[in-house]
Amino acid sequence: MNADGGRYTGLIERYRARLPIAADARVISLGEGDTPLLRLTHLVRDAGADVELYVKLEGLNPTGSFKDRGMTVAVTQAVAEDSRAIICASTGNTSAAAAAYAARAGIRSFVLIPHGKIALGKLAQAMMHGATVLQIRGNFDAGMQLVKEVAANAPVTLVNSVNPYRIQGQKTAAFEIVDALGRVPDYHCLPVGNAGNITAYWIGYSEYAGCAGTAACRFCAGTCPYAWPPVTDRRPVMCGYQAAGAAPFLRGEPVEHPETVATAIRIGNPQSFSQAQAASQESGGWFAALSDDDILDMQQRLAEREGVFCEPASAIAVAGALRDIGSGRIPAGSVVVCTLTGHGLKDPDIAIQRCAGRVLEIESRREAVERAILDRLR
Ligand SMILES: *Cc1c(COP(=O)(O)O)cnc(C)c1O
Repeated sequence: MNADGGRYTGLIERYRARLPIAADARVISLGEGDTPLLRLTHLVRDAGADVELYVKLEGLNPTGSFKDRGMTVAVTQAVAEDSRAIICASTGNTSAAAAAYAARAGIRSFVLIPHGKIALGKLAQAMMHGATVLQIRGNFDAGMQLVKEVAANAPVTLVNSVNPYRIQGQKTAAFEIVDALGRVPDYHCLPVGNAGNITAYWIGYSEYAGCAGTAACRFCAGTCPYAWPPVTDRRPVMCGYQAAGAAPFLRGEPVEHPETVATAIRIGNPQSFSQAQAASQESGGWFAALSDDDILDMQQRLAEREGVFCEPASAIAVAGALRDIGSGRIPAGSVVVCTLTGHGLKDPDIAIQRCAGRVLEIESRREAVERAILDRLR
């Protein structure tokens, strides 16, 4: 319960006791978090699998991706520190979230995006929210390097996931999953790009299991001030999935020219590399790679068979999970949660290309409409 009489007002209010936000800070929120955990049935049955499979619909956050969880905390802290501007490098969703939360806070935002490789919806958001959009002739990794250098000198706060407050906000998704299921999942599957999110989930699950101060936690560096009595005594196995053309975790080293249709995870030099590796190892998990075709097939199957439209980078989690369930690596009887990181509407171009030919051109006559219907119901 809060000052608004129980109305949900965002994840800082809900999980305030577990977040490093001063009691008198002005909270910058757009009502993020509290996203649905939906059980998939058709895809599981199609695969002949015997698991409980859930998806966490992070595309239903205010700007359409999980980045809002981190941004509410990072921008609240930036404002508390009297910062007047934020900056980030982005494959798209971080810039959309940064721009929106900066607008809400009444401060300036600057976003560096790679030339030509950003989904249209994300670019529209950054522009619409009034960010200064700086398009560089370089990829995300180059942009990341630049903003780190700039933030060290200029009066702007860096809000990429190297900002520890981002990770703190994002860990709340793990809390929500355990709270919603009433138990810890056996496996947690998610896409891995810059690797902040897998790091954040592991911190969240670890906190609930009473093992605060994991090696993955850059914020507390192993001496977490937010040690709480355990809510549970278990943690899930963490499964991270990467696009085959942008898979530094499978190579064990940075990839110089990452390529994938899933632009949100087109990253070759993840900033949270060691933390994500620690999370994977501590949990007994693994990283695996999938092709762009696997990614787009699953994006379409989720839309057609489950009514869930996520962006390509998100679909990789379900594609990976179902493959690992099929091979037995994730055993029958498991409870599996996949994070669907972003909304499908972010990237309409890819979806429309994929479904080209699905729009029927017909005459503007009743008979033509009826014929089209009857042809399809036969
Ligand atoms: C940012 C993002 C990712 C990757 O998350 P990381 O924390 O960078 O690993 C995956 N999917 C979507 C939709 C994203 O926006």
